[in-house]
Amino acid sequence: MIEYCVDKNGHVGIHCVQCGQVIELPITEEELLSWDGHNHIQEQFPQVTPELREMLLSGICPKCWNEIFPPEED
Ligand SMILES: [Zn+2]
Repeated sequence: MIEYCVDKNGHVGIHCVQCGQVIELPITEEELLSWDGHNHIQEQFPQVTPELREMLLSGICPKCWNEIFPPEED
Protein backbone atom coordinates (compact mmCIF):
# COMPACT_ATOMS: atom_id res chain seq x y z
CA MET A 1 0.00 0.00 0.00
CA ILE A 2 1.22 3.46 -0.81
CA GLU A 3 1.85 6.00 1.91
CA TYR A 4 -0.72 8.73 2.16
CA CYS A 5 -2.00 11.46 4.43
CA VAL A 6 -5.33 13.22 4.63
CA ASP A 7 -5.49 16.99 4.31
CA LYS A 8 -7.91 19.36 5.98
CA ASN A 9 -10.36 19.02 3.11
CA GLY A 10 -10.50 15.29 3.65
CA HIS A 11 -8.61 14.65 0.44
CA VAL A 12 -5.89 12.10 0.18
CA GLY A 13 -2.33 13.31 -0.28
CA ILE A 14 0.25 10.86 -1.51
CA HIS A 15 3.93 11.10 -0.70
CA CYS A 16 6.00 10.62 -3.81
CA VAL A 17 8.43 7.79 -3.15
CA GLN A 18 11.03 9.55 -5.29
CA CYS A 19 11.00 13.22 -4.30
CA GLY A 20 8.87 13.13 -1.15
CA GLN A 21 6.51 15.79 -2.41
CA VAL A 22 2.90 15.37 -1.34
CA ILE A 23 0.42 15.43 -4.19
CA GLU A 24 -3.21 15.94 -3.29
CA LEU A 25 -5.74 13.82 -5.11
CA PRO A 26 -9.42 14.71 -5.51
CA ILE A 27 -10.53 11.63 -3.61
CA THR A 28 -11.32 11.01 0.03
CA GLU A 29 -9.70 8.50 2.31
CA GLU A 30 -12.97 6.59 2.34
CA GLU A 31 -12.91 6.36 -1.44
CA LEU A 32 -9.30 5.26 -1.42
CA LEU A 33 -9.94 2.57 1.15
CA SER A 34 -13.04 1.38 -0.67
CA TRP A 35 -10.86 0.51 -3.64
CA ASP A 36 -9.92 -3.11 -3.30
CA GLY A 37 -7.25 -2.89 -5.97
CA HIS A 38 -9.16 -5.17 -8.31
CA ASN A 39 -11.64 -2.76 -9.82
CA HIS A 40 -10.36 -0.85 -12.78
CA ILE A 41 -8.76 2.23 -11.33
CA GLN A 42 -10.27 4.46 -14.02
CA GLU A 43 -13.74 3.26 -13.05
CA GLN A 44 -13.10 3.61 -9.35
CA PHE A 45 -11.64 7.11 -9.64
CA PRO A 46 -12.94 8.67 -12.86
CA GLN A 47 -12.23 12.15 -11.49
CA VAL A 48 -8.51 11.44 -11.13
CA THR A 49 -6.30 12.20 -14.12
CA PRO A 50 -4.40 9.30 -15.68
CA GLU A 51 -1.10 10.68 -14.39
CA LEU A 52 -2.38 10.74 -10.84
CA ARG A 53 -3.93 7.32 -11.18
CA GLU A 54 -0.46 6.13 -11.98
CA MET A 55 0.67 7.68 -8.72
CA LEU A 56 -1.96 5.69 -6.84
CA LEU A 57 -0.46 2.53 -8.27
CA SER A 58 3.24 3.32 -8.16
CA GLY A 59 3.60 6.06 -5.54
CA ILE A 60 5.60 8.09 -8.05
CA CYS A 61 4.43 11.63 -8.83
CA PRO A 62 3.88 12.75 -12.44
CA LYS A 63 7.04 14.89 -12.39
CA CYS A 64 9.27 12.04 -11.27
CA TRP A 65 7.48 9.66 -13.58
CA ASN A 66 8.44 11.87 -16.53
CA GLU A 67 12.04 11.89 -15.36
CA ILE A 68 12.17 8.12 -15.02
CA PHE A 69 10.18 7.47 -18.18
CA PRO A 70 10.67 10.50 -20.42
CA PRO A 71 7.94 10.96 -23.01
CA GLU A 72 9.18 9.86 -26.37
CA GLU A 73 10.04 12.70 -28.66
CA ASP A 74 9.23 12.69 -32.31
ZN1 LIG B 1 8.14 13.01 -7.20
